[in-house]
Amino acid sequence: MASIELEGLVKRYGLTTAVHGIDLTIKDGEFVVFVGPSGCGKSTTLRMIAGLEDISGGVLRIGDDVVNQREPKQRNIAMVFQNYAIYPHMTVGQNIGFGLYTSKLSKAEKRTRILEAAEVLGLEDLLERRPAALSGGQRQRVAIGRAMVRDPVAFLFDEPLSNLDAQLRSAMRIEIKRLHQRLGTTIVYVTHDQIEAMTMADRIVVMRDGRILQVGSPTELYENP
Ligand code: ADP
Ligand code: ADP
Repeated sequence: MASIELEGLVKRYGLTTAVHGIDLTIKDGEFVVFVGPSGCGKSTTLRMIAGLEDISGGVLRIGDDVVNQREPKQRNIAMVFQNYAIYPHMTVGQNIGFGLYTSKLSKAEKRTRILEAAEVLGLEDLLERRPAALSGGQRQRVAIGRAMVRDPVAFLFDEPLSNLDAQLRSAMRIEIKRLHQRLGTTIVYVTHDQIEAMTMADRIVVMRDGRILQVGSPTELYENP
């Protein structure tokens, strides 16, 4: 687990500035949700934290370390996308275990991690199934399981529920929140859905045009919109 600190973080794409020097400290174990309209810089910020996008300016710290130059793998942060890539030819267990593909852990240790993740996610009875036999929500959980087995210091979610129907979205909101309560891992979550932000966040960060407009708990923002 670790805190994540953004200090004057900037992202430029050529002449366009997508993120204009934002400051934010995400506490160890905190669930922070970035909200704001499409194009305001949420994804870019998340991708800089993950190491999928070069940082144009400022400092990014994970724990006590400046990680601006670190490869994504060395940051030990798990990213869950909306288009979760799970492999149709592999079983649920194999898909989750794929997160440990390059790991040097023993076979027994890998097996334990897969079972633990499956249990937390309620997939323990589905380990031998293939993705085609799963619901959308179960597939989403497999993708989360694959990230979980790596024991990351933080999870980053980029609009993970936007492809799901309303009923499933509401169920998954509860599941992701419960996952956070169980694991206590830092979570940074990007969405344009106000309900997701209000129901899941410890703190909400409102972005507009590459800047932070407001930061506060759901209650604070509800009372001072
Ligand atoms: P959001 O996630 O809030 O929808 P993004 O972070 O995706 O916003 O985008 C922020 C801004 O940066 C937008 O104006 C977008 O067009 C621009 N942008 C994002 N990615 C690129 C890229 N690879 N090249 C150029 N501009 C980009
Ligand atoms: P999101 O809303 O999730 O950020 P987008 O549809 O804005 O998704 O972007 C999808 C992909 O296209 C991202 O990899 C982003 O970096 C890239 N992208 C977004 N805007 C631009 C742009 N103006 N020029 C080039 N690439 C872009």
